[in-house]
Amino acid sequence: MVDLDPRRHVPRTDTVLADPRLAEASGRAGRAAVKAAVVATLQRVRDGELKPAEVVDAALASLPAGLRPVLNATGVVLHTNLGRAALSPAAREAVLAATGHTDVELDLATGRRAKRGRTALAALQRAVPSASDVHVVNNGAAALVLAATALAAGREIIVSRGEMVEIGDGFRLPDLLESTGARLREVGTTNRTSLADYSRAIGPDTGFILKVHPSNFVVRGFTSAVGIPALAALGPPVVADIGSGLLAPDPLLPDEPDADTTLGEGATLVIASGDKLLGGPQAGLILGTSILVERLRRHPLARALRVDKLTLAALQATLTGPSTPTWDALRIAPSALHARTTSARDRLASAGVEAEVISSEAVVGGGGAPEVTLPSWSLSLPSPYAALLRSAPTPVLGRVERGRLLLDLRCVPPSSDDELVDMVIMAAVQAG
Ligand SMILES: *Cc1c(COP(=O)(O)O)cnc(C)c1O
Repeated sequence: MVDLDPRRHVPRTDTVLADPRLAEASGRAGRAAVKAAVVATLQRVRDGELKPAEVVDAALASLPAGLRPVLNATGVVLHTNLGRAALSPAAREAVLAATGHTDVELDLATGRRAKRGRTALAALQRAVPSASDVHVVNNGAAALVLAATALAAGREIIVSRGEMVEIGDGFRLPDLLESTGARLREVGTTNRTSLADYSRAIGPDTGFILKVHPSNFVVRGFTSAVGIPALAALGPPVVADIGSGLLAPDPLLPDEPDADTTLGEGATLVIASGDKLLGGPQAGLILGTSILVERLRRHPLARALRVDKLTLAALQATLTGPSTPTWDALRIAPSALHARTTSARDRLASAGVEAEVISSEAVVGGGGAPEVTLPSWSLSLPSPYAALLRSAPTPVLGRVERGRLLLDLRCVPPSSDDELVDMVIMAAVQAG
């Protein structure tokens, strides 16, 4: 039994929180989330005969312990730890619609089996006119593994020493490629590789020439690399791992390669991620000549790398729908960002929470465009807010710079600005 406040006949928040029935919910959803639910529920309790602890526990039953929605105020547009690209509302709706039974592999007109995900694949091909065929697997790494297995197992992949990349979390492309049974034929040096280095390495064992976009680092100074047109003239297939997932050139990111241009320059296959600059679901895009794409699609390994219907749904909506949150976040005008940040600062001030508006810099992230910085604006708060906001009912992630927590609204949907302000106010209350 919980004690009732004799004046209002409603228990105090602390009393409800002490109820042992909420201990499990606290472990699952975090104490801050439970507390917020208690506060919200007490209002409902005032109106009826509800048992508070049971109501709160029921309200929290659908909150998973992980994969909680968070607000990305880091100023990193594609944050790997936050799931890279946020899907567009159109893609979210498409995913939801696909959660039931769908015609993913059925032609409704004839009633016969049809090519899996054909409408999503057609949308991808329309977006990249230079591709004569396309295929989609689980992620960029899976696309590379499939290409290496189908085209070079027991043979050689020629790759520049300047492009032996670690993609993150200790995973390295050379290890990934060798895990397929292909041998790496390294050519050139870290800073310089010439056309002659490649042509000398070509032999009867050559499976393909691999060109990797060094997407998460830059080599400067005494450097040289060989472009796709020259490599394509050498004879063996050229597989280009462009990483970022740009399908066409983007003037905002002039140093990022795109699939259409790379194929036009003579690459046989282009490999890219779906959840980087394309702004879609995690996926590995494979685009290129019909013969090679079909060889990859028919390889037994392809079945193990097959994408879910939810991925296909999200990809298709990303390709055919309105601009993605990624695209919007990269292009939001600094003046609009300044206005939103100032308005959030003012709402905080009227709740008695002091924050400053400062100019800051955002980045693309996700291992892309390491040289590009985007002029931005941020709310600046004392650094202890970082931990408090991470454990807020809707966790807010910022970044700590020079002892201050910066909250950059660039990647926060404008419709969530109020929620972010609410979370900061709650954190301020907790901080006392
Ligand atoms: C990101 C990246 C990968 C890995 O792609 P995933 O979709 O994360 O598997 C491979 N190569 C390059 C150049 C990349 O930038």
